[in-house]
Amino acid sequence: MLSYRHAFHAGNHADVLKHAVVVQLLRYLAQKDKGYWYIDTHAGAGVYSLKEGYATKTGEFETGIGKLWGRTDLPPMLADYVDEVAALNADGNLRFYPGSPYLAWRLMREQDRMRLFELHSTEIDVLQHNFRDAGRRAMLYAGDGFEGVNALLPPPPRRALMLVDPSFEDKRDYSRTLRCVEESLKRFATGTYAIWYPQVTRPESQRFPDQLKKLQERNWVHVTLTVSNPPSDGFGLFGSGMFILNPPYTLAKTLKETMPWLVQALGQDKAAQFKVEHRGD
Ligand code: SAM
Repeated sequence: MLSYRHAFHAGNHADVLKHAVVVQLLRYLAQKDKGYWYIDTHAGAGVYSLKEGYATKTGEFETGIGKLWGRTDLPPMLADYVDEVAALNADGNLRFYPGSPYLAWRLMREQDRMRLFELHSTEIDVLQHNFRDAGRRAMLYAGDGFEGVNALLPPPPRRALMLVDPSFEDKRDYSRTLRCVEESLKRFATGTYAIWYPQVTRPESQRFPDQLKKLQERNWVHVTLTVSNPPSDGFGLFGSGMFILNPPYTLAKTLKETMPWLVQALGQDKAAQFKVEHRGD
């Protein structure tokens, strides 16, 4: 039984990090004319309302996109991401937040394709509704992304970004993510893989970065954004990380230029910090 609904968390500090990185990765793929595939193993609903429903119950977006909204001193990487959010909020009021599928859809060109997986019956219904006019460039699968992705790799154009973004409420998501990416690399070694993970107190989360680094000796970037000390009751998200395999060669530098600003903007206490690690090709 899946209980996670991304709408509670849409636009929070973790979404800011994840989506700002995804925008960079897609922009880089679009530098060549040849088409690419965007694969989202855990797509969510696609677009979220921030002014009604689940998001209003937690107000988490106020810890994330809410703090960037209206700022005129954004570093270029974040300005690029906020522009994409602004495209959904043309009147200047922050009412809607784009999930990863919608961000990718906006950045796709005629020659690019997207493949989305979503297991939750309600979320896939909303996703299908949001993409009802997308046509055959976007294919949506109601099913398990960890398993379904095997049939798609390698993608025909041999150029792709795969986002692996489980909720990690089930601790098996850690091992399933590692297995999924390991298998995917066997089928498609040159793809770009972006894996999001939560910073929480559970041991699986603490060990995860080292396990990710073992997937491939070289050619990865690891970025973390910690916004606060771990909560005293041991529960809750105090930061997140993104691990990118086969990244654009410019990504580590861009992150090093951007993250200090982001820590200032989203940090909640003295423990706020970032880390950018990088192994070149
Ligand atoms: N990628 C989305 C974004 O950035 O906007 C957010 C995804 S949310 C963190 C994780 C989603 O994965 C939830 O909507 C959940 O229902 C879905 N999910 C959980 N297990 C899944 C599985 N095995 N395969 C596909 N989707 C799954």
